[in-house]
Amino acid sequence: MTIGKADPPPLARRAASAGASPVLEILALTARPEVISFAGGMPAPELFDAEGIRAAHDRVLTEEPQRVLQYSTTEGDPLLREVIAARMSARGLTSRTEDVVVTTGSQQALTLVSTVLLEPGDVVLVENPTYLAALEGFAFAGVRIAPVPGDDEGIDPGALSDLVVRERPKMLYLVPNFQNPTGRTLSLERRHAVADIAGRHGLWIVEDDPYGELRFGGLPVPWIASLDAADDRTVLLGSLSKIMAPGMRLGWLRTPSALRPALVFAKQAADLHSSTVGQAAAARYLSDSDLDAHLERTRAAYRARRDALLDGLPSALPDGSIWNRPEGGMFTWVTLPERYDSAALLAEAVGHGVAYVPGAPFFAGSVRSSALRMSFTGNTEEGIREGLLRLAKVFA
Ligand code: PMP
Repeated sequence: MTIGKADPPPLARRAASAGASPVLEILALTARPEVISFAGGMPAPELFDAEGIRAAHDRVLTEEPQRVLQYSTTEGDPLLREVIAARMSARGLTSRTEDVVVTTGSQQALTLVSTVLLEPGDVVLVENPTYLAALEGFAFAGVRIAPVPGDDEGIDPGALSDLVVRERPKMLYLVPNFQNPTGRTLSLERRHAVADIAGRHGLWIVEDDPYGELRFGGLPVPWIASLDAADDRTVLLGSLSKIMAPGMRLGWLRTPSALRPALVFAKQAADLHSSTVGQAAAARYLSDSDLDAHLERTRAAYRARRDALLDGLPSALPDGSIWNRPEGGMFTWVTLPERYDSAALLAEAVGHGVAYVPGAPFFAGSVRSSALRMSFTGNTEEGIREGLLRLAKVFA
């Protein structure tokens, strides 16, 4: 025993709640092979274009080993930035290479934006419910979260307008397409209203769009970043995770020029740059392979899986349950009759060999404990049907 040993100083206040992450608990559940999981937000692994991604790594390591194994620039691989800018331009948002900063997943982009914009005590507006790991990131920044009420079309512009006047927020965080967790999409009319409010009142918007390219029904809706009223104050986040493979850990932010130097500086302080070889391989993949053909296959599979899930829900869930019909993405949001507590029922569900994510942790304000999130992408249609038979036993 060491005599006279004093305790080390405590953790920073912002880290006090660290370790109690519902995300980690969810990931633990999905890892058990006997459980059919509707919980994790995992892309279908059998659809990864492993061969194409392997070939892209091979090519860059064979052709330019000294470049791709070396340190590189903080902003990211020039070719990758160029192809990402071209993809956004082709989808209606004119973008230049210099507007794009490559990040280690869009999760890092969220951290960088928080680092650059948020002081402890600032107010951040969010959808309610919203993406859990964004809430966790904002908690680290020590901000106050204010939820904006909404409905099936997304946040309510009238409520947003009131909150902007009352709370003087610095930033609005939105997942406009096939939102995590609800699967809902913000209508064009509301995107214009949100952009106008941000323009009029002076508000940063973080438009987080990892799911937009997974649309398998309906018509694409323009990004808020493309609307004149807010194009100088919207940071658009994108990711290769859901369209290529999350293990690549590559995403990007498209930034207004006013924020660019600070964001690059924050990125440099965080990790110097994202993996040189990973970025080079991704750039090569995006130039050589047909990502659109891969996406076409992915969307067709996801549409069939959504249909399998939605077709089976009526016989799996108790009368009075409601859910939505997302036109893309990975998630459906279910609300059970109020007497059910989805978190309390989860252990029973896992006992029957099926899992979902309870809705409560996604709420920033008042919690609806009968809600839950179901992902339709991680299981085949057959797996989904079996999972629903198991789920039905929970309510039998
Ligand atoms: N934003 C949202 C809304 C997400 O759902 C996710 C992943 N689940 C992320 C960001 C982070 O994605 P990644 O870091 O893999 O790009």
